[in-house]
Amino acid sequence: MSTLKAVRGTRDLLPPETELWNHVEATARRVFSRYNFGEIRTPIFEDTSLFARGVGEETDIVSKEMYTWEDRARPQSEKAQSLTLRPENTAGVVRAYIEHKLGDTGLLQKLFYIGPQFRRERPQKGRYRQFWQIGAEVIGPISAGSESPLRDAEVLEMLATFLDELGIQGWHLDINSVGSATDRPRYVAALREALAPVKHLMCEDNQRRAETNPLRVLDSKDEKDQEIIEKLPKIADFLDDDSKAHFAAVLAALDACGVPYHVNPRLVRGLDYYTRTTFEFTHGGLGAQNALLGGGRYDGLSEAIGGPKAPGIGFAMGEDRLILTLQAAQEQAAGLADFFIAPLSPDQNPAALELARELRRAGLRVELGDGSFRMKKSFEIGNKLAKKIVLLGEDEVKSGILTVKDFATSDQTKVAREQLLTSSH
Ligand code: AMP
Repeated sequence: MSTLKAVRGTRDLLPPETELWNHVEATARRVFSRYNFGEIRTPIFEDTSLFARGVGEETDIVSKEMYTWEDRARPQSEKAQSLTLRPENTAGVVRAYIEHKLGDTGLLQKLFYIGPQFRRERPQKGRYRQFWQIGAEVIGPISAGSESPLRDAEVLEMLATFLDELGIQGWHLDINSVGSATDRPRYVAALREALAPVKHLMCEDNQRRAETNPLRVLDSKDEKDQEIIEKLPKIADFLDDDSKAHFAAVLAALDACGVPYHVNPRLVRGLDYYTRTTFEFTHGGLGAQNALLGGGRYDGLSEAIGGPKAPGIGFAMGEDRLILTLQAAQEQAAGLADFFIAPLSPDQNPAALELARELRRAGLRVELGDGSFRMKKSFEIGNKLAKKIVLLGEDEVKSGILTVKDFATSDQTKVAREQLLTSSH
């Protein structure tokens, strides 16, 4: 008898790895609760039409990736119902919002979820057929401020905080506006027009997309087609005044709270329901599947599935990819020294050696810089070799209060010399 294995694209999560999953989920719960989000748990399967209407018939997800089956009718006189394993959770959350009349509270609903999603995609590293998402939605009546650009910025700032608290370094935020429900059709028409004379020069996938969903051509990774894509019209030129003002206000709020971003005019994302702000956080360490999370505003989604007007904004993070990123960082950290000591001038070299001796005697692994190095060079070398850098200037030597920066979290703190001996155990 052949041995049975987990189905292709699914996998078992075993200890000790599950500890890391629990840590990620606990961090999400802790951070999200500070922003006043509460947890929602929706069913893992829903009526197929929820996704057809909520995600969009033309999307890859609905057109080819869903696990759908006809549920046997019981009693037999009833019609069989088409059910689908959820490929994403936003449609389910908005369905619940409508079903439980959460809008009647007159308040913004801030809901987060953690759970498995299912898509029939080609399995590879970072892409599975059952994968986990951690996501959140802010949704409510307009009178509760659900359309405010401040909501977009708050969600983005929360994500930056979450990734920082998890210790994920080197993330990158791309942001764009795809305009309102009236801007988008005008842009799509212009795209179709611009694509018509050139589409036969593009790869097969893009030729098909140019017909079915021209927005998708923009996120094509096909090298050869980039030159054509670069020259296509940009959505920014099709935004109406309201959409422009909304986008400018989101960016101004991000600037004000110091969240770094990059405006990417080609970021349109795959789901139909997005309006105005769309965003994606990527991480270079993930290879081809480099998107850590994606999200955006969906002002018309509630109405698309039969509910009241209820603008909203949300995101979904790939938990599997968060874990991969953390594991890679842990592996890298395993080869690192505990401290890199950076004397700020040659005068501090003897004190640096003395400090290194003390730390090494306490069992810590220490690398020593040199007072002739410029600060920038010390940081560069320190970042490659050690988890933390200790800055040792004249003041630090005199006072015994040292400046320590943790490369994983970017936290810079003042630490008493004696404390340092025990701090990294
Ligand atoms: P989406 O719902 O397509 O916007 O995806 C949001 C996030 O979920 C992505 O940025 C990925 O991190 C993650 N994700 C999507 N599809 C998969 C998959 N098949 N396997 C693992 N993670 C995924």
